[in-house]
Amino acid sequence: MFKKFDNTPFLIAGPCSAETPEQLLEIARQLAPQGIDLFRAGIWKPRTRPGAFEGLGAKALPWLREIKAETGLKTTIEVANGNQVYEALKFGVDVLWVGARSTVNPFSVQEIADALQGVDVPVLVKNPVNPELELWIGALERIAKAGVTRLGAVHRGFSTYSKSKFRNAPYWELPIELKRRLPDLPMICDNSHICGNREDLAEIAQQALDLQYDGLMTEVHCCPDEAWSDAKQQVTPFRYNEIIQSLIVRRESTDDTVFSDNLEQIRHKIDEIDLEMLNLMARRMRLAEDIGRIKRKNNITILQTARWNEILERGFAQARERQLSEDFVEKFLNAVHQESIAHQRQVMDKNLVA
Ligand code: PEP
Ligand code: MN
Repeated sequence: MFKKFDNTPFLIAGPCSAETPEQLLEIARQLAPQGIDLFRAGIWKPRTRPGAFEGLGAKALPWLREIKAETGLKTTIEVANGNQVYEALKFGVDVLWVGARSTVNPFSVQEIADALQGVDVPVLVKNPVNPELELWIGALERIAKAGVTRLGAVHRGFSTYSKSKFRNAPYWELPIELKRRLPDLPMICDNSHICGNREDLAEIAQQALDLQYDGLMTEVHCCPDEAWSDAKQQVTPFRYNEIIQSLIVRRESTDDTVFSDNLEQIRHKIDEIDLEMLNLMARRMRLAEDIGRIKRKNNITILQTARWNEILERGFAQARERQLSEDFVEKFLNAVHQESIAHQRQVMDKNLVA
């Protein structure tokens, strides 16, 4: 359902929230000729703080039915409990999605799954707000067990305490791992909720396509600045069209032998470097064990904050000179440091000393 045979992305677009029948119709009328696959609109809105606009509820459901009759566009909304599933199905909503705040809660997901028993409507499951892959997979499993066969995942990014340029950190490694574990599961990128702004939507959409995503979910509003929710990240139908037109859809493979020979050669070099890195890491850990032995003899703690700071600071400076990002070097050095601590502990705390 969410994978298109011509390899072009499955496009879901529409406002964050349904506001008025006119607003919905205006957006749908401008999106329909662009050939989108599904019209989205939130009618029950989970908001972080009370007092914000929480959606119009079931009263907007007939409006969506009219949109479909008028423009031919299929519709999708978020459902967060069993009753919302019944209401949505009653009004002929074509696809349901489970929101990020529901995916975290197995009780909510199970209630939605129970309401879906025997219905087999297509369902999209957004990632949970926290970066936990098992919760995401667990929610997909619960919905699948209810008999839903047309399932897809939506990557909308993850909450973090430290705010970066994104509203929700992408942590691409999670959807990549989900794709590795469930290769046939369609993967959609919600670039709007990852970005939280208009400027980066195209960049994130392109990145998703280059990671072999099957589609995009994007918030589109006729007057973005006046939107009742998520105003900062919504774009006009005109701008949406520009973004979609700017995307490059690349192939997964080719029969061209010159290309595959070149690729093979470069990959060979990369494999050699990976092996070299592992050998270096092994040598580094042996040295950490030597340090563990002398610290043990002298009764010195494993962690020395000043030394760790020095490693990080130097690493950042050296990374800059080598065109490596600070973010990468921080993650890399942290991983090395943790492994180093583990090796020192083996020597110091578990009496494994030679
Ligand atoms: C939405 O799509 O408008 C929404 C509330 O999304 P999420 O569940 O990703 O926060
Ligand atoms: Mn939104």
